[in-house]
Amino acid sequence: MVLLLLSSAAFKSSGNPELFSAPQAQTDTLKTDARDPVCGMKVKKGITLTQTHNKTVYGFCSASCKKNFVSNPDKYLKK
Ligand SMILES: [Zn+2]
Repeated sequence: MVLLLLSSAAFKSSGNPELFSAPQAQTDTLKTDARDPVCGMKVKKGITLTQTHNKTVYGFCSASCKKNFVSNPDKYLKK
């Protein structure tokens, strides 16, 4: 019984590691003024509403912008 429960939990969390770990992920502080890659608003250094992608820290104006970015970073980083 216990083993079954454990393996089913492990199976679920391995489905999409990035999505499942995102809410608990450590957030970096934005080091410089930048632009929200989702909506284009300016974001100030020091905010912690950030996401690290390809070793770059991106800052967001709101949690929903961050959520959009996390779900599909490449869409917003394309020029
Ligand atoms: Zn935004």
